[in-house]
Amino acid sequence: MKSIILVLATLLIFILTQIINLPSRETKSSSSEQYTIVIHAGAGTISKDLPDSVKEDYFTSLETALRLGRDLLEQGTASIDVVEKVVNYLEDDPRFNAGKGAVYTSAGTHELDASIMDGKNLAAGAVSAVKLIKNPVSLARLVMENTPHILLTAEGAEAFGKKMNVKFEDAEYFNTEKRYLQWQKELEKSKQGTVGCVALDKHGNLAAATSTGGLTNKLPGRVGDTPIIGAGNYANNNTCAVSGTGKGEQFIRHMAAFNISALMEYKNYSLEQAANEVVHELFNPGDGGVIAVDKNGSSAMVFNTPGMFRGVANSEGLFEVKIWE
Ligand code: ASP
Repeated sequence: MKSIILVLATLLIFILTQIINLPSRETKSSSSEQYTIVIHAGAGTISKDLPDSVKEDYFTSLETALRLGRDLLEQGTASIDVVEKVVNYLEDDPRFNAGKGAVYTSAGTHELDASIMDGKNLAAGAVSAVKLIKNPVSLARLVMENTPHILLTAEGAEAFGKKMNVKFEDAEYFNTEKRYLQWQKELEKSKQGTVGCVALDKHGNLAAATSTGGLTNKLPGRVGDTPIIGAGNYANNNTCAVSGTGKGEQFIRHMAAFNISALMEYKNYSLEQAANEVVHELFNPGDGGVIAVDKNGSSAMVFNTPGMFRGVANSEGLFEVKIWE
């Protein structure tokens, strides 16, 4: 009898520990009327010498994306919906390296990576090496919400997309002249680009989403940091939400996005200090940059490239977009 009670008690303790450790546990949220959004569209910039009209187009596109997200947050929309919608907009814009406008692999094809994460419960979804999905970040969200997995890749991810009825495009849709010429010339300085959005909503929840075509001329099958949770994308209500752009291998090696969160959680760094530590101390010059927002609404946009397409807005009326330093 005694041993049965002991076995039952051990079982109960085991079950309770499992429940406490569930990955979908709710993390703290500090609800207020405050919100902040930060976007990026890659650390591969354009030349300052381009005609004003071309530069204006880039600014206008960034402003449109930022306004879209800002207005949704103002209406009280959840950050997880906001980051998806904003990244969808940037994926559809051929100027940026994600969705339409994705760079070419060495085989002349397109392979897209994306991920999304909800800081409220650490739920995450990602897809890698998909070829025909119009908005990879939305497929990543479906992985998060409709499978027990986090990352689906290539044909498996596309088969899942078919089942979920997401929008497919033929390979031709992803062909753009700018990226084709870039691939042909293999312009070293234009190799980078990605789009991302992080947000703190009025309910105190953080979220991050990132989408990319990867690096120009990458080997088919190469997976970068963007769909690796903790490398190019991370969100945790206890700390911050981060989206990265730059040399994916460096982000993976240093678990860059998670590292920023960990420095805040375990070493009490501010968001700015943590982002600076990773970008300026761990990375090599020219590796890339991050955008981030913390649970109090502070934002950071830190990079070690000549520029980064970026923008920030908040409930205090801040609204700015920038490209270079
Ligand atoms: N981080 C992306 C990758 O390595 C590319 C980029 O952001 O430029 O796939």
